[in-house]
Amino acid sequence: MDRGFQALSRAVAESERLVWLTGAGLSVASGIPAYRTGPEAVWDRMVTEWGTNARFRRDPLAWWREFWLGLHDLDPRGRRPNLGHDAITTLVGGRPGHVVVTQNVDALHARSGVRAAQLIEIHGRHGLYRCTEAGCRGFFEPATDAEVDLAVVARGEIPTCGVCGAPVRPLVLLFDETYDSHPFYRADEAFRALERADAIVFVGTSHAVGVTEIAQQMAARRRIPAFHVNIAPYEHQGFGRAAMIDVIGRAEELLPRLLR
Ligand SMILES: [Zn+2]
Repeated sequence: MDRGFQALSRAVAESERLVWLTGAGLSVASGIPAYRTGPEAVWDRMVTEWGTNARFRRDPLAWWREFWLGLHDLDPRGRRPNLGHDAITTLVGGRPGHVVVTQNVDALHARSGVRAAQLIEIHGRHGLYRCTEAGCRGFFEPATDAEVDLAVVARGEIPTCGVCGAPVRPLVLLFDETYDSHPFYRADEAFRALERADAIVFVGTSHAVGVTEIAQQMAARRRIPAFHVNIAPYEHQGFGRAAMIDVIGRAEELLPRLLR
């Protein structure tokens, strides 16, 4: 067994405070494409172009129809957690100091059984909706699929908030928004967990978003072990960066081996 895996195995067993930071690569085996890389990367342009609050505000109906409901591949509901998710669920179970921070909006960690207290969905969750009026109760208390009628989009209407009647939108972080734009993202809690961690394990992330950047800086500054579990080696080694330990392979094959 290679040295990276052995070091990871030791860190997972011995760390009191560990952060799993997971990205799209973890959910590929559940049938959810990783938009930033691979043959589906053509979608990336559409997603970054339409996936903004500015675009939503300009034309909410077109946004719902053409983008959010139009790109069926975006919808992860109906997908199941894979062996990688399940291994993480088992590994964090009974270890309250271990936390999962995920960039994924597919809710698969939750469906796999990670307790809410140990799970931070920092980019939101597909299937939850919030009011666009910041003062409304519907802003803070997200509505579920059962409470929002998306069928109205096909009739040319915008789905609305059950409390105040203003338009609702999915509870996901869009490309022109910050982590503090909604309390559901629990960004403060995530950054606190990273600040105190003995080790950080990046799983299936392309290190292209803010939270991974911040996590790497924290790992570098505090000289804690940082692991890169992915199908390809970490490409950004350099000054001011964490000395990332590569653990190369598919998450759904590697992570279950940590249970042995
Ligand atoms: Zn409202």
